[in-house]
Order: sequence, then structure tokens, then C-alpha cells
Amino acid sequence: MNTLIIFDINGTIIQRDSRTDIPYSKSADELLNAYNAMKGIDTSARSDKDVFMEVLRNAGVVFEDRLWSKFLKIYEKNLELFKNTDIWRENAGSTDFINRLYNKGYPLTLMTGELRIGARFKLEKMGVWSLFPVGGFGEDALDRYSIAMKAVEKSRGYYARDFKEMVVIGDTVLDIKTARKIGAKSVSITTGSNRRNELEEYSPDLIIDDFYSLDIEMLF
Ligand SMILES: [Mg+2]
Repeated sequence: MNTLIIFDINGTIIQRDSRTDIPYSKSADELLNAYNAMKGIDTSARSDKDVFMEVLRNAGVVFEDRLWSKFLKIYEKNLELFKNTDIWRENAGSTDFINRLYNKGYPLTLMTGELRIGARFKLEKMGVWSLFPVGGFGEDALDRYSIAMKAVEKSRGYYARDFKEMVVIGDTVLDIKTARKIGAKSVSITTGSNRRNELEEYSPDLIIDDFYSLDIEMLF
């Protein structure tokens, strides 16, 4: 199989709502000994580390690696704390679709602003973490394009092949733009931060409302 399928996580594989980021925002509060340190920060389609920098700026704190390491420890503790709650839920038949792709032998990868550890907790809960042996994560780069490039580079290495075609599946306008920049097709799902008409403006190759009725062949 020479087509790399690149998945976004939040709003695509898992439902995204005000509770999705609770472990992250709780960790920011704990680190800074603050209340609601994430207030007013738009986290959609951004890398977790980029968001972290903004949280610090807003609190008037200078970034240091030491703080980042401390944050990661607190974050892992909170991910553990929330893993058996229902804050992460499957989105629109995504896991069945991912399994269908995997069973047909398609190479899969992730393109997400999530830190690898956050991605792991969320996708383990969905039962699909092991189907994504590689990915571009929030610690790989600060912007989405560089994260996507990293995902492709790692996938080339892991799957030991050059991909003839690539498909990005995501819920935001930024995912469409990123797909175009890396020369991939784009599939937009209307379950995330951007509405159908906002997505349509950027002419993705395909727009879907869910994964239930999506045939693999429709991706190409
Ligand atoms: Mg998303």
C-alpha cells in the first residue's frame, strides 16, 4: 500500500468539547498555582507546547525547560487520573474506519498538536493507539505544517517506503491548508471546530459528516 493516511485526533478521532482538555488545563493551573490559567486561549489545531508558551506569557512567567519538564510530570499524573472517565469519546465511527484501513494494510500516521503522551492516553482509550506506530506530535514542532512534515518523514522511515499518495483527515481549515502544503489530499469532517461552510470555502477533496458511511475507496 503506497498511500499514507494521516489522521488528526481532536474533533476527528475523538469528540472535542470543553472537557477534552481538562487534564491539560488542570496541569497548567497546578504548575502555576493559578485558577483557569488557560482562560481565553484557543487551543484548536495548535501544538500543546505552543499553547504552553502562551499560558506562561499570559501569567508573566518566562519559559524554562525546567518548567516544561515539571509540567509534563503533572500532565501525566492528570492523564492517568482522567483515563477512566468519559471525557474522551469516540467521534462519529472513527475507530471502526481506522480498523478497516488497518486491516486492509494502509499505513497510518498521526498529525496532532497533542503531546505524544496525551495522544497515547486518548487513543489507548479508543483502542486504536497500537494502529498508529508513528506520528507527528506537539513536541516535534510548534506549527501544524512542521508537525505534518515530521509525521511524513517518520512514516517514510518506519514503513520503509516513499508514498505515492497521502490523505489528511481532519476537522479544521488548517488541516486542509496543511494537506495542500504537503501535497496530500484532504478529507474534512464536519464534527470539529469549523462548520461545513467554513470548510467548503477551502475546497477540501471530500467533506464528510461521519465515518459510518465512508468507503475506503472514497478517499482516493
Ligand atoms: Mg482537530
